[in-house]
Amino acid sequence: MAPVVVIGGGPVGLSLAMELAYHGIGCAVIEPRTSVSAVRPRAKTTSARTMELFRRWGFAERIRARAPIPVSWSSDVVFCTAAAGAEVTRFTGTLGLRLAGDDLAAEPGQQVGQPVVEQALRDALGGAVNVRLLFGYRAVGVEQGAGGVSVRVSDASGAVSTIRAAYAVGADGAHSIVRGAMGAVYEGGNAGRPNLSIVFRSLRLGSLIRDRAVHRWVLNPAAPGVVGPLDLDGTWWAIATGRPDDDRDADPVASCGP
Ligand SMILES: Cc1cc2nc3c(=O)[nH]c(=O)nc-3n(C[C@H](O)[C@H](O)[C@H](O)COP(=O)(O)OP(=O)(O)OC[C@H]3O[C@@H](n4cnc5c(N)ncnc54)[C@H](O)[C@@H]3O)c2cc1C
Repeated sequence: MAPVVVIGGGPVGLSLAMELAYHGIGCAVIEPRTSVSAVRPRAKTTSARTMELFRRWGFAERIRARAPIPVSWSSDVVFCTAAAGAEVTRFTGTLGLRLAGDDLAAEPGQQVGQPVVEQALRDALGGAVNVRLLFGYRAVGVEQGAGGVSVRVSDASGAVSTIRAAYAVGADGAHSIVRGAMGAVYEGGNAGRPNLSIVFRSLRLGSLIRDRAVHRWVLNPAAPGVVGPLDLDGTWWAIATGRPDDDRDADPVASCGP
């Protein structure tokens, strides 16, 4: 019987496995995604508090070494009329990126894409003796018994097996099956006009923008959103705000020029 089964290997589940390993407690992590996708745009900022956790595990410098944008590059957030348009206002020292040497935090935050963080966590855990990474498996049922928890997992072929553990932790995101098994209910719903997250390549955009900022908030009502660099080599993230719901079906990989 495993001491702990972590259901979900996103940043929270993988971080929990790191913390358990740090305390010498073994675990198994169940995660359907066999690999980390670079075009799954989510977190771009790792907070100072998270970097402090990483520091405790001896992991903060490894994240900074993999981050394509050094923390010293910029801590600015700009509000503007277009990504390469007129600046309306600018804030510096945002997102905890300027906290190096500050009494408030042992580590500053770090601009680094979530896929980079997830891959670094996977790599670090791959070398941990008491962690089993079960990629390609999905939890399909969780049952609490007198002596522990039974977690039913299915592999890609649909074959189901059972893992017994003293504890199971739900880190399986917004549609958590663990939440359902506990009888907890998700309240609320999606926004009527959701945001659309995009990762794109453009060398031209970089040549049009002369200043440095980690976020560019575009106030233009015709195309509102946020855009920022994922690296210093022409890869960008953008969040188009208030898009119509049918954007959801957009081709995830589209090409639109240089
Ligand atoms: C556009 C956007 C921008 C964001 N920007 C930031 C930011 O800058 N900074 C920040 O800190 N946060 C940011 N976030 C939030 C951040 O992405 C989430 O807080 C984070 O992903 C939550 O991690 P998690 O591990 O709890 O959940 P998830 O990342 O959702 O991971 C859950 C995992 O569980 C797995 N799973 C699902 N069902 C099962 C199952 N049945 N069995 C086993 N595994 C299962 C999934 O495959 C997934 O890997 C952003 C989010 C979005 C969408």
